[in-house]
Amino acid sequence: GVQEGPEYGIGDFILLDNLTEAAVLENLKKRFEKGRIYTFIGEVVVSVNPYRSLNIFDEAHVNKYKGREIYENPPHIFAIADASYKAMKRRSKDTCIVISGESGAGKTEASKIIMRYISAVTNVSKQSEIEKVKNVLLQSNCILEAFGNAKTNRNDNSSRFGKYMDINFDFKGDPIGGHINNYLLEKSRVVCQQLGERNFHSFYQLLFGTSESKLDELFLRRDPKLYHYLNQGGDAKDVTSIDDQSDCKQVIRALKDLKFPFKHMESIWKVVAAILHLGNIDFEPLEPEGVRVKTKGALQNMSKLLQVDADAAEKALGTRIVSANQELMEIGHNLEQACYGRDAFAKAIYERMFTWIVKQINEAIDVPEELKKQQQSTVIGVLDIYGFEIFDNNSFEQFCINYCNEKLQQLFIELVLKQEQEEYMREGIK
Ligand code: ADP
Ligand code: MG
Repeated sequence: GVQEGPEYGIGDFILLDNLTEAAVLENLKKRFEKGRIYTFIGEVVVSVNPYRSLNIFDEAHVNKYKGREIYENPPHIFAIADASYKAMKRRSKDTCIVISGESGAGKTEASKIIMRYISAVTNVSKQSEIEKVKNVLLQSNCILEAFGNAKTNRNDNSSRFGKYMDINFDFKGDPIGGHINNYLLEKSRVVCQQLGERNFHSFYQLLFGTSESKLDELFLRRDPKLYHYLNQGGDAKDVTSIDDQSDCKQVIRALKDLKFPFKHMESIWKVVAAILHLGNIDFEPLEPEGVRVKTKGALQNMSKLLQVDADAAEKALGTRIVSANQELMEIGHNLEQACYGRDAFAKAIYERMFTWIVKQINEAIDVPEELKKQQQSTVIGVLDIYGFEIFDNNSFEQFCINYCNEKLQQLFIELVLKQEQEEYMREGIK
């Protein structure tokens, strides 16, 4: 059942008399201590990460918020999800839910809660097509997280890419498809991790989730310490909150449900394995210039998996082509350049694979052609970018992430304040 109980503190900050930062925090704290993690500010909901599972997302709660007006019930993320679903259904209005907050605040969990709510309230119709769409939309999360999330020092399952997900609805308000846009994958993580952090989950899922014989086929051993791209963050295998083996099974099931052809799945693991071997390629200098690969085994393994000629790969990794006086010349790398080129190659392969996976998911959830022609569809968008962050060493990627967060914050303030001011104008309030 739904806990009714009294409201603690003030459920909507608009009603707070004393608008100071201290009073705002005090109110949040008071509510949080009683398990009230949500507080409204008008049509915005503030959420505090509980870091434990709360019994407030069950069917009873869904029913409580379903079809109700936003202020009828205590503050809840369901109220926001329902408001946008109603705007879509009653007025055929496209809406977008923007989720912002620093890394670890609970944005991605919130986006999943919203998706599940929408899935639950559209459950009335038992048409198989609609069930399929919803299933695929929900399943796609675990695939995206396997390849785009990683353990950081702030969040064991931190999204290392931005995501904007559209769900399309037909005139009856049933989901008929969707689309995912991905932004700014943190590809530097493929080749380098800070102390205490891990590479993307996919690498560990491959090592710990696949069979011995599969590992043999990929020339791998079940030990992350053996791979340069996995052993820079310290011994980060033992993360109690992560079960790579069972996560891997879930990803494979989701890939199957999304009708990923078997050969595509095989290719994905081959690419991930090839990147691990690529990272183990070391060079030694040649006299008078240039480099050669010192670790031939790694070169051979990578070349076999990528189906390229090992000599050609060695040459490509050790040289660059420059144009001088209208002429193309081949110049040998020095050690540093060769390592830089190797890492750039690894990052590029991984990013392209990720983008390709998103494209495959989009093909699986795309609105079917015949529905596209028949009717106009309405969308609800959910934006979940990665949050503001500061490390000891901040790179261009932190700059982009934080710039993006600042822009979003600015847009948000503009929209919300403008909306309020327009209302004041309408009501003739100075
Ligand atoms: P963000 O996307 O903002 O970086 P996440 O959504 O990944 O953060 O949340 C980080 C962690 O916090 C989750 O892995 C989960 O353990 C916990 N968490 C977040 N939201 C909730 C919630 N509503 N209930 C319980 N735990 C949560
Ligand atoms: Mg996230």
